[in-house]
Amino acid sequence: MLKVHSRCDLSCDHCYVYQHADQTWRGRPVRMPPATVRAAAQRIAEHAREHELPVVHVVLHGGEPLLLGAVGLREVLVELRAAITPWTRLDLRMQTNGVLLDEELCRLFVDHEVHVGVSFDGDRAANDRHRVFAHGGSSHEQVRRALALLRQPEHRASYAGILCTIDVRNDPDRVYEALLAESPPRVDLLLPHATWDDPPLRPGPGPTPYADWLGRLHRRWVDDGRPVSIRLFEALRPGGGGTEAFGLAPADVLVIEADGSWEQVDSLKTAYHGAAGTGFDVFGHSVDDVARHPGVAVRQEGMAGLCATCRACPVVDQCGGGLYAHRWRTGSGFDNPSVYCADLLRLIDTVNAYPPPAPAGPSGWVDSPVDDLLDDLATGHGSPQTLTRLADDQFARVRVLLTACRDEGGSGAAWEVLAHLDQVAPEALRAILEHPFVRPWLVHRLVSSARSGEGEAADPLPALAVAAALRAGLSTTLEVPVRAGVIMLPTLGSLVLIESAESAEVAVLPGRFRVRAGSTEQTVLLEPTAPSAAGWRPTRDVSVPGARLLLEDCDPYRDCYGQRVAPRLETSAAQALGRTLAEAWRVMHRDVPAHAAALDGGLRAVVPLAPDPARPLRSATARQAFGAVAVTPASDPEAMAVLLVHEWQHAKLGAVLDRYDLVEPGQGSRIRVPWRPDPRPPEGVLQGVYAHLAVTQVWQSRAVTDRADASAHAARYLAWTRDGVEALLASRSLTEAGERFVGQVRHALEETRVGSG
Ligand code: SF4
Ligand code: SF4
Repeated sequence: MLKVHSRCDLSCDHCYVYQHADQTWRGRPVRMPPATVRAAAQRIAEHAREHELPVVHVVLHGGEPLLLGAVGLREVLVELRAAITPWTRLDLRMQTNGVLLDEELCRLFVDHEVHVGVSFDGDRAANDRHRVFAHGGSSHEQVRRALALLRQPEHRASYAGILCTIDVRNDPDRVYEALLAESPPRVDLLLPHATWDDPPLRPGPGPTPYADWLGRLHRRWVDDGRPVSIRLFEALRPGGGGTEAFGLAPADVLVIEADGSWEQVDSLKTAYHGAAGTGFDVFGHSVDDVARHPGVAVRQEGMAGLCATCRACPVVDQCGGGLYAHRWRTGSGFDNPSVYCADLLRLIDTVNAYPPPAPAGPSGWVDSPVDDLLDDLATGHGSPQTLTRLADDQFARVRVLLTACRDEGGSGAAWEVLAHLDQVAPEALRAILEHPFVRPWLVHRLVSSARSGEGEAADPLPALAVAAALRAGLSTTLEVPVRAGVIMLPTLGSLVLIESAESAEVAVLPGRFRVRAGSTEQTVLLEPTAPSAAGWRPTRDVSVPGARLLLEDCDPYRDCYGQRVAPRLETSAAQALGRTLAEAWRVMHRDVPAHAAALDGGLRAVVPLAPDPARPLRSATARQAFGAVAVTPASDPEAMAVLLVHEWQHAKLGAVLDRYDLVEPGQGSRIRVPWRPDPRPPEGVLQGVYAHLAVTQVWQSRAVTDRADASAHAARYLAWTRDGVEALLASRSLTEAGERFVGQVRHALEETRVGSG
């Protein structure tokens, strides 16, 4: 990237060159002197020759390169061609604001085969939000005139495309339409430059406004048949190749400033003053010298150059940690995820939910693993392999949250134990992290940290490390925060302390642990036959055919269902619930073995709900607590089997919705359904349809074998599900993936009907 002119005729307030942390432009010559152009061209030629490069891309940049004028630009282009083309193919490009583009310049670019990209942020309101002259006047008309010139047939060969910096306050539909109206060969969408020190604007309550905004634009683009190449969406797809902003490919851009300095990528100017500097220049240093600079070298390391959070991220191959500059935070430098992490995670899910652009067969859906998973679940139950994929995905999300909690001031000592266990006893660690209420705890901690800035929720890392160490038989000692006089060890139990304290020292020893709080000490033996220690409330489990379930009535984060959970059950009540669950398991395997197998593969815990005489039979799932269902402790195994099958549908679909958008984001519509008096949002209807599909299958199975009332139940649920499916499909509130999913559910429903005779 050659900075041939270091000033600009616009005064955009989002410009990283002039408006952000780095201000080195102030000490640089206004235009690159001819001797510097020559030295730069020779350095590039030298590198191409020594490494026998097939092609070199040179981008004329600024400031505003058109301020050099036609004569100045011609001199630069001639110099570059003369020095470089004897050794390699020279791909010449330019990035401009377009204001000064005229016929003469267009002819020059066509003659010298320069591909011109124009910065343009969309419709007038969007463009003029930032891209204005120093006096505040609009640049919209001038830029549109430049784009019209480039569109002319005689100049079209030099029209490279549009670079659009997004602003979530703009209307995405209007921006999309304004960009398309200029018929660009390609569109580059940029996130506004930001860092953890200077975070991006987040208007509104939503946590991922950039993903939502781009998701909307992505939907339009897919619906329109992808009429233009949009690099961001193409690069983000699995195997999309990435860009400087995404993916794990080595960074391959260097900048030559107007004074001949070698610099790292330009966007670093947003981090801090001098961030892009290397101390090298074209007069004394080759490209190979600059490539050895630590700041450049670290960006050649792919995964190894990323922070721990990104390395553990399920989408790291596609995201690559985001743009390097966006990771900056004073103190930890660039060893962070992108400040846009949450948006990137969600945007990648959105992009992944759509079929690839180049169909492998008659339809773009063929051979896509996304579609395999959705199609398999749309049968009603999903195979054990699909359940494993959902569980793996949830586990990966918990790991990312765990690392985020470490970054938010979590215990370093506990983190070291967790990291060690990850190496030596990964199964023990996974057993803890897959406990359904770990994710709600981590989320609660992160949300409270974000709100108060100091993390009012207890740091989860020490308790998780102690629980995992106990499972693995690893001896260690950690300071564990105490919540309301209790230490909670997920999957194992909770200890009520004798003496109130803010934290306690917990020593993990083989088969036991010892807790010191204040002046008291308590020891808990974990062997099942050991006498129960005072204050220790072990998590009880239930043996069901082919599996063991935790009966979770202690973990405080089980209270995530929007319904009152039962306090710890008396032993007799716990045993009674255990017997009902075991019998319900047998009933499920009798009625709907495929659904039962899906439960075998994923259900880990059952939470008793508090009894309510007005509604004695209730059940619930929570999106954050995959692997658990909550039920009222009823005694009828036939009814319990229906509740479990019903709720497990919600759990599976929740995990799917974590990963794929099946409903268009931002839908305010409501749909009438036969099973509720009030109109429901599309996602609620989708959940209802999916649960009722399974319940229909249960009753149809029972109708075949015995129960007199089963046929009536089956008919009612079938009608409800069918009506729900049709209402959803008619609502136009589903994404393309959602329509396909619901279409498959409709198909499964037809099969169910035929199968039941
Ligand atoms: S046109 Fe480009 S270089 Fe000029 S002020 Fe705007 S963003 Fe900065
Ligand atoms: S953790 Fe965030 S920034 Fe890092 S790779 Fe994953 S989505 Fe990207």
